[in-house]
Amino acid sequence: MLHDNLSINEAGHLTLGGVDTVKMAEKYGTPLYLLDEDRVRENCRTYLTAMKEYFGGGSGPLLASKALSFKGIYRIAKEEGMRTDLVSLGEMFTAHAAGFPLDRAYFHGNNKTDRDIETAMEYGVGTFAVDNREELYAIEEIAARRGIRQNILLRLSPGIDPHTQEKISTGKVDSKFGTAIETGQAEELTKEALSLPHVSLLGFHCHVGSQIFEETPFTDAADIMLAFMACMRDKYGFTASVLNLGGGFGVRYTESDPVIDYRANIRLVAEHVKARCAEYDFPMPEVLMEPGRSIVADAGVTLYTVGSVKTITGYKSYVSVDGGMPDNPRYALYASRYTVELASNMHAPRDFVATVAGRCCESGDLIGEDMTMARPSRGDILAVLVTGAYNFSMASNYNRIPRAPLVLLSEGTDRIGVAGESYEDLYRLDV
Ligand SMILES: *Cc1c(COP(=O)(O)O)cnc(C)c1O
Repeated sequence: MLHDNLSINEAGHLTLGGVDTVKMAEKYGTPLYLLDEDRVRENCRTYLTAMKEYFGGGSGPLLASKALSFKGIYRIAKEEGMRTDLVSLGEMFTAHAAGFPLDRAYFHGNNKTDRDIETAMEYGVGTFAVDNREELYAIEEIAARRGIRQNILLRLSPGIDPHTQEKISTGKVDSKFGTAIETGQAEELTKEALSLPHVSLLGFHCHVGSQIFEETPFTDAADIMLAFMACMRDKYGFTASVLNLGGGFGVRYTESDPVIDYRANIRLVAEHVKARCAEYDFPMPEVLMEPGRSIVADAGVTLYTVGSVKTITGYKSYVSVDGGMPDNPRYALYASRYTVELASNMHAPRDFVATVAGRCCESGDLIGEDMTMARPSRGDILAVLVTGAYNFSMASNYNRIPRAPLVLLSEGTDRIGVAGESYEDLYRLDV
């Protein structure tokens, strides 16, 4: 199987974390998000131990909230000793409601409103990643009014193209995110930040992109960031103590994606950072990383019930399921590739190729095209694998479809993490 938390039981059913997925579909209905909590914890620990061991000091991972945000994930993150990033007050209030200590949170995003800034300060969010000049001054002004000194990082764009998809590449100079090093604007911003009395500049942040399978984009980014940090020290006497290298390690969605050894990659990045620091005679900073998908993606499976299976003579076959872009918009957005399994009959031969379509009134509402699977029939349970990241968090109510529930699996037991929406929930706010 694609990941080792997936298996097949005596009934010939797909299991996730040892739990029979077909039983879960019967118990909770479909569409259904399953999340293997044990796998999430294991992924957290991989980052926590590898980063501590290889980078040392206070280095460690932040959970990238946007990949999956609900109260349960912040409880897990808190228990595991993770920090977290936040991009909105919605994520912040969810983390707060779950008891996550917000001093361990980093407030990201390229457009924090004054209200965002005020509220995040009121709730004691530890560090702001400042995206741009206007935001820096807004933070200074609000911190001054509140009589505090806010810890900040500056988000810089190091000018790296990690050769993944355009829409998920963020570290290039021409980007909506961050302040460019290449143009001299990052230096200007650093100078200004150092001159302001109500912000305390700790260091710098960058995030080059997502679904990256090798360490090179990270070591390239680290090179540029550390050269910049050394330059800021030499010119302005400012020695940054934090370097946040962002998220982006890839995840195996299909057989054609490589197996990735996160620990080994972290070690390579750490060795590189240490060597550069030695070269510049720069004290080793606290290094942060922000994994999102590599913490939660392989913990997730989405279950659907098959409706129609139609073959258009001379063309192709369509399998329609009872979910689609409302629970997983990633094929519609990025043509992301997934693996499907006939969860209710895992021993059937995988000799059928079809487009898996959702139920919305939209031709683009697809889970994937040319997907290989065992031929399903109406009523079968179809599983889409590796959906723990950017599925639940990107869900919508398009076509007035209620959001699917999310069930947590741990040590062979199941419990609701997020209840499914009712039809009443859908029109609750309508006047
Ligand atoms: C999206 C994002 C992440 C997480 O990326 P993954 O590819 O899910 O690891 C981390 N940091 C920032 C700033 C991001 O925008």
